Amino acid sequence: MRVPILTYHAVNIAGNDYATNDHVAFAADLHLINDLGLRIVPVHWVVDQLLGAANRDLARCVAITCDDGSDFDYFDLDHPSHGPQRSLFNCMADFIAERGAQAQPDLHLTSFVIASPQAREHLDRNCLVGRSWMSERWWRPALESGRMAIENHSWDHNHAAIALPGIDGMQRGIFHEVDNRERADAEIAVATHYIDAVIAPQRTTLFCYPYSHVNDYLRLEYFPLVENVHGMRAAFGAGAAPLMTNSDRWNLPRYICGWHWKSPEQLRAILDERF
Ligand SMILES: [Zn+2]
Repeated sequence: MRVPILTYHAVNIAGNDYATNDHVAFAADLHLINDLGLRIVPVHWVVDQLLGAANRDLARCVAITCDDGSDFDYFDLDHPSHGPQRSLFNCMADFIAERGAQAQPDLHLTSFVIASPQAREHLDRNCLVGRSWMSERWWRPALESGRMAIENHSWDHNHAAIALPGIDGMQRGIFHEVDNRERADAEIAVATHYIDAVIAPQRTTLFCYPYSHVNDYLRLEYFPLVENVHGMRAAFGAGAAPLMTNSDRWNLPRYICGWHWKSPEQLRAILDERF
C-alpha cells in the first residue's frame, strides 16, 4: 500500500490562482489526479486497510482531506477581498458534473473540524471576517451527501488567536503543549464527544494534529493506551510521504497544499514519484 493523502485548507484564500487559493488548487487537482489515472478514495478506507479491518484494492489510490472546518468547506461564500469562492464540496460536484460520476466513483473528502463552538466563534472573528463562517450547520448535510466525512481536529486547536486562556494553563499556538492526560482529554476526548453528539448516529474515528504538532506523549501513550476514552482509530500528522502498511498509526503522513506543493507540476511530481 502506497497511498498519498493530500490536505487542503479552505480558509487559504489570498488571491484567486493556484498558489494563493486552495479552492482553485483543489478543483484543478481533482482533474490532475483523474488525468493521471489515479483513484480518489475515502481516507477511512486507507485506515481500514492499515488496521487490517478491510482488504480493498487500493492500488494507485489517493485520499483527500481538509483541515480547520470552516463554512468554506461546504458552502459557496463571497469572500470580502477575493469574491465568490466555490466550496470544496461544490468543486467535487462540478468535477462530477463535468467528468461523470463514473470517473471517480468513490470521490470523497474528509474534513477535520474544530469542536468548540466558542473557539470557532473566536476564530471566526479574529481570523475570518466575523460572519459566522465557522459554524457546524453544514456538518450533518455534508455527511448525508455521502461525499464527506467529519472528523476530529481537537477541541480548540490550542489556537493562538483564541482570546480565552488555554486549557490547564497551556501556552496558546503550540499543540506540543498537549502533553498530559488532563490536557489530552480536554483537547481530544471532549472534542470526540462534542462532534459525535452533533453528527449522531455517525461518529468520529480519526484525528489530525493541529499545526501538525505531534508529540511523544500523544503518539506513544495517550492514543495507543486509552482508545476507549478518545475513540480514535488513527491520527494524522504531516510526514510528506505516502501512507504505507508500516506507517505509524498515530502519526500518519500527509502532504499539505501550499507547503509540500505549490503548483500542479509539483503535485504531479509527488504523485508520479509515489507509484
Ligand atoms: Zn489546523
